[in-house]
Amino acid sequence: MRKIILYVSIVTLVVGVVYFLSLGQVRPSDTGDIRQDAPPSGPLAGRIIVVDPGHGGYDGGARAGVSRVWEKEINLKMAKAVAKVLEGMGAKVILTRQEDKAFADKKRPDLDARLEMARQGNADMLLSIHMNQYHSAKESGPQVFYRQNHEASRLLAGTIQAAMIDVLQPKKQRKAMAGDYYMLSLDIPSVLVECGFISNPEEEQLLMDAAYQQRMAQAVVQGVCQYYALQSMP
Ligand SMILES: [Zn+2]
Repeated sequence: MRKIILYVSIVTLVVGVVYFLSLGQVRPSDTGDIRQDAPPSGPLAGRIIVVDPGHGGYDGGARAGVSRVWEKEINLKMAKAVAKVLEGMGAKVILTRQEDKAFADKKRPDLDARLEMARQGNADMLLSIHMNQYHSAKESGPQVFYRQNHEASRLLAGTIQAAMIDVLQPKKQRKAMAGDYYMLSLDIPSVLVECGFISNPEEEQLLMDAAYQQRMAQAVVQGVCQYYALQSMP
């Protein structure tokens, strides 16, 4: 019996040593693979972009007319879609929240915490993602807001608005507008994207649809790329 145990132990040891040695071996096909350490590539490589899913926690934001889903939930899904497309283009994304939460129990300190993330992260740009609401169910269409007299933000709002019209072909084609939002108070190009009206039953259905969220995300990022293309022109 002891002999068998000894034999099994030796076999296990030999197999283990052979396996361990094989781990250290570099096969010729592996030597050219340096992707893991390579810097991100793509049109947005080197850009640090804050994506802020508006509201969260105690602050639900607007509420969808038919499904009664809170704006904060749709914002989070949409913002995650935007973040993914941005990362695919090489950008570093700071998502202000990944879950349903607020950073304070009052509005202003909650927004301050999000703005502080942008400052601490040395962000180049800020996109705050929201859903719109109106007392009339007829209003529809995405719309981008920027801070008055902040030229870079006005340009960014314009390129995103144009891309959303181009990609999504909304019935109501809105223009980017100046808006007085505390979230737009930083000196980096900052916009608040109202993706559409959740008080409009048709648009509510679209905004909650994963495929439409993906198209919206692509439109927003197309606008971001267009902005940088214009910025780099002589
Ligand atoms: Zn909102």
